[in-house]
Amino acid sequence: MGVKEAKKNFVERREKLIDDTFSPLAEEVRKIKENSIDRIEELIEAAERNFERSGIEFYFTRSSKEAIEVALEFFDGAKTVVKSKSLVAHEIGLVEELEKHGIEIFETDLGDLIVSMLDEKARHFTMPAIHISAERVFRLFDVKDENGLKQRVKEIIRERIFAADGGITGANAVSADGCAIIIENEGNVRLVSSIPERHLIVTGAEKVVETFSDAIKVAELTWRSAGYSMPSYLNVIGGLSKSGDVEKRIITGLHGPEKAGIVVVDNGRTEASKTGLKEALYCLRCGACLFSCPAYIALDAEWGSVYPGGIGQVWNYIAKHETNPFYCLNCGVCEEVCPLSINTPEMIRELKETTLRKIQKF
Ligand code: SF4
Repeated sequence: MGVKEAKKNFVERREKLIDDTFSPLAEEVRKIKENSIDRIEELIEAAERNFERSGIEFYFTRSSKEAIEVALEFFDGAKTVVKSKSLVAHEIGLVEELEKHGIEIFETDLGDLIVSMLDEKARHFTMPAIHISAERVFRLFDVKDENGLKQRVKEIIRERIFAADGGITGANAVSADGCAIIIENEGNVRLVSSIPERHLIVTGAEKVVETFSDAIKVAELTWRSAGYSMPSYLNVIGGLSKSGDVEKRIITGLHGPEKAGIVVVDNGRTEASKTGLKEALYCLRCGACLFSCPAYIALDAEWGSVYPGGIGQVWNYIAKHETNPFYCLNCGVCEEVCPLSINTPEMIRELKETTLRKIQKF
């Protein structure tokens, strides 16, 4: 079952959420993304000033290597770090690099935990374990049903979070006026970002938009296009945990971490913003196009590492100069379903030509 069952449930749920307010929001978000990608460098500079002002360390890194160096220094001396979903952390190979340096990484997102326990790779933006059946998951955790799974997962994950020296999360949107927004349903992001003494957000440069209000609109379109009328939790991080209750003296790190940072990874994004692949930078990672893609479904979601499907091949090319565009049938359904009308088929055509030219040179 796995992928086909997930597709059926997703399509039914998402259809109910496409009401009269969806298109105006999508049009507004498209303009926000166009504006922010055109001003990517200026907005990152503003974000740096505003995050630093509120006590959050800000790092803009050009490459995976630079981002890993920042993370290693940030978690210096840590033995265990818990992690929630961050595609960019996987893009830069962060888990493997931290583990090479003796830091144990534990996935707290259920889908990511399942794929890491099975030593497999994530196959969807929002559902990493899309290809794994419920029966296989129950066997993996040695439980009989959803209830048993819930109890078992809670025990394992909570113990790790409370013992961890640090936490890593991603972000769905970052505003240049100084806040990061993280959408979630499981509740692990709240714990990972607030229980350990150090919290590091690892995200991509294309996530930076101008204002908090823009970031909220981006987040709303993301969760709606991902099939949720409302997420269970919306985490907004705009500073360190603090109290001014005693003579207005500011005491930081009261219940949240003592130290927080954000790494904004470029890894080819700025360069791509000046090419025909620019539209890929608008992607919200809602995953709607993946469920609509006949090739992705026929391949049991096994198409591309880190970033899957058609849009994923554009992303793998931008970030890692790896791509496999040839599974694409150019049917155009992904563009139709995309809330931002991202022209993935055109970018895939360009990648096919580039790849063929490279092959012919050999
Ligand atoms: S390309 Fe569009 S539909 Fe696909 S994940 Fe990105 S925003 Fe969502």
